[in-house]
Amino acid sequence: MNIEHIGQPFLKKFPGDFSNNPLQRNTPKVLFATVKPAEFYKPHLIAFNEALSEEIGLGKFEEKDLNFLVGSQLPNNMQTYATAYAGHQFGNWAGQLGDGRAILAGEITNANGKKTEVQWKGAGATPYSRRADGRAVLRSSVREYLISEAMYHLGVPTTRALSLAFTGEDVIRDIMYNGNPQYEKGAVIIRTAESFLRFGHFELMFAQGEHKLLQDLLDFTIENYFPEIVSSGHQKYKDFFENVCTRTADLMVEWFRVGFVHGVMNTDNMSILGLTIDYGPYSMMDEYNLNFTPNTTDLPGRRYAFGKQGQIAHWNLWKLANALQPIINDENFLENTLKDFGIYFWEAHDKMLCKKFGFDGLKKEDAEFFTNWQGLMQELQLDHTLFFNQLEKITPDTDLNEHFSPVAYTVFNEEKINKLEDFIEQYRSRLHSNSISKQESLKLMETTNPKFILRNYLLYECIEEISSGKTEMLVKLTQALEHPYQELFPEFSKKRPSSYNNTAGCSTLSCSS
Ligand code: AMP
Ligand code: MG
Repeated sequence: MNIEHIGQPFLKKFPGDFSNNPLQRNTPKVLFATVKPAEFYKPHLIAFNEALSEEIGLGKFEEKDLNFLVGSQLPNNMQTYATAYAGHQFGNWAGQLGDGRAILAGEITNANGKKTEVQWKGAGATPYSRRADGRAVLRSSVREYLISEAMYHLGVPTTRALSLAFTGEDVIRDIMYNGNPQYEKGAVIIRTAESFLRFGHFELMFAQGEHKLLQDLLDFTIENYFPEIVSSGHQKYKDFFENVCTRTADLMVEWFRVGFVHGVMNTDNMSILGLTIDYGPYSMMDEYNLNFTPNTTDLPGRRYAFGKQGQIAHWNLWKLANALQPIINDENFLENTLKDFGIYFWEAHDKMLCKKFGFDGLKKEDAEFFTNWQGLMQELQLDHTLFFNQLEKITPDTDLNEHFSPVAYTVFNEEKINKLEDFIEQYRSRLHSNSISKQESLKLMETTNPKFILRNYLLYECIEEISSGKTEMLVKLTQALEHPYQELFPEFSKKRPSSYNNTAGCSTLSCSS
């Protein structure tokens, strides 16, 4: 791999702390602290993403690169670092946080000039680890490695994953937070993104009153990642905020399209580029449920439930607006832009639903149809993904009970069958008013509705297998997730088996990772 071509331009641009001291502390007035990854003596490679490595300019993997993949061997001049950010967690200001177990190797440029940041996750403590160890366990690393690529191939903006390796070191975790800590295998992933900057980076500069640094960071972000912004002066920052709002709204719509629940939408987990970032207790949704949250920490309030993700994004943007106000200096503008977010989001959301149903475009009466659909999905406990796959296949002769009951998580009684029949009748009559052909409509559905999603129970089985030394399922899942709009493996396109309905680490997930 071309690891010696990774550079650290961020370090030259901004003030940092170069003491290389991973002890817990605050670092005011700086955007990063240099820190070396830990040394792991017996790393073992589990997966490597060759296509991504080539694409970003890192080239082919050779045996000698293994130690780099866990951060234990660095090219001579590589100065690795962790960035400082802050955040609102579960609705409360959490103060300074930072990359607690992410360490940046720097940035690589490919032959087309495209720049990509490269970072380890789980490679050891940083100045921002607080009391934690900076390590990551196998289960959370497998989950992040696979979902990053699954989201990418679904077409959802996301950070990506380059490699997954055991560190050879055990890590202690209390998974259920019930006083039963256990040793688990430690792992490191390398993840990549155009930039890992978060809302929280801007919030930290604001909270510390570092307005000059805040403006510098904004200038840097706009110049490097928002080429579409060509204005100057105050207008530039206004365009930036509008742009972040649009990207964030678009991302939420994509999450609704594929049925993704992030689970921890704190502002430190919100990418300024509108990428899905920091995969923890996330879940793809099986049965459609607006109230579904996979995160056990979120269960009391369900703040981060599936159906609330648009509202929460809006709340998070409001916190970002607050942080940018000293530079933008126009409260009316910020308030109006935040109001527009709601309008833009719902319109984009409904247009997305039109595609899932194969409609030509958004009609006024569709809003009521969509509300009826949500009611039907929740009452009949229909599988979000499989419902649309089945909808694509209905003909005038289809027995609807036989066709849809296998993709529901409850048994249909007469009342439910009547509801289903009523709904499909509404659907057929809406299709009649379509101005596009049947084929075009079907094509729209097939390219919008995935046939394969990375369900939690599949991940659970894959992690069990890897823990016992086997990687067949990992390889198969990797193939399946590269072609989510096809059905490569019919056994992966089934609803969740009932045996997994109440399995910890499958139906519910803790933040322990
Ligand atoms: P998360 O909710 O997973 O995004 O993490 C919130 C904060 O805790 C971030 O600043 C993380 O870097 C930090 N963090 C989480 N787990 C660890 C760990 N094992 N070691 C150090 N820092 C951690
Ligand atoms: Mg995080």
